Amino acid sequence: MQSGETGTGAMPAFLDYHRLGAGYALLWNSAANGGMHAYLLAGPKGVGKLTFARMLALRDFCTSVKKPCGICDACRRVVSGSEPDVMLLTPQDDKAIPIERVRQAIARISQHSFGSGNRFVIIEPVEKMTAAAQNCLLKSLEEPIANVVFLLITHEPSAVLGTIASRCAMVKLPPWPDEALTAALLSLGFEKAPVQACLPRAGGNIAQALTILAAGAQDSDAVALVHRALTVRSDADVVALSLQLKDDRAGAEQALTAIEQSLHIALLIRTGILPAQSVQDADTISFSKHASESELTDFLTAVFQTRQRRQNQVNWQASIDRLLMKILEAKTRWQQS
Ligand SMILES: [Zn+2]
Repeated sequence: MQSGETGTGAMPAFLDYHRLGAGYALLWNSAANGGMHAYLLAGPKGVGKLTFARMLALRDFCTSVKKPCGICDACRRVVSGSEPDVMLLTPQDDKAIPIERVRQAIARISQHSFGSGNRFVIIEPVEKMTAAAQNCLLKSLEEPIANVVFLLITHEPSAVLGTIASRCAMVKLPPWPDEALTAALLSLGFEKAPVQACLPRAGGNIAQALTILAAGAQDSDAVALVHRALTVRSDADVVALSLQLKDDRAGAEQALTAIEQSLHIALLIRTGILPAQSVQDADTISFSKHASESELTDFLTAVFQTRQRRQNQVNWQASIDRLLMKILEAKTRWQQS
């Protein structure tokens, strides 16, 4: 899939699960047919299990023809965590997930249905639940609630209670084939040469590949431009930078690509695919901390539109102004809150 096919180049565009291997395709198809009510998604850290679980939920809620689109209101609600029919339980401050949170989630999901379709409980990772929390979850698995789908994620299947595992359809999500990993990274805007160079070390793991690429990008010339773009503080900064980019078309293209990469990486940190510790770029980390997922998706849409306007020969400087102003507005907002 090409970046931008969905209009944003955001998450859905770079994850074409049919290319990733049997486990992904199997789950994608069986969940679509309403096969089971509990799945255990097992695979190494960094292969995108949580993203995959979210995509399964997104597909159910998406209102576009080609699902999941990642940009309709329904998709945005799921991605930003404001969809009440999709609950995500993850450890807070790296502490174990306590029984109270599991109880609350199950009580809420079994009482309300805000829409008419499936409701989802996503837990990541299951082995981070206390024993009491796992037992509480087990009850719900033994007495299924209509239209509630449990997507349980584990990096370490042997650490999950056998009783839980036996109530779930286990789906192994292995590292990705190099071809699929390459396609995903190219669609994120990375150049072909560094992508190919990182493959042997990435071992089919998208988080690992992004970590290597993010570290490599530190040396690039584009970093200085991205830093200026992501740290604009005033209208004057915006004008100065857009004047410079107006006369440097090649530099501008490079800057757009680099801004896009930085935003994508921020989004991947924000969505938990990429650990923040693995990224050194302070601007990217600042964006991942301050911008919500839907804001980051908006920025990516803005980059995409900037590129489109440029291709359509619409006033290039005005387009880049608009993008930078959007960043400036967001930064002002974060400072005030
Ligand atoms: Zn959608």
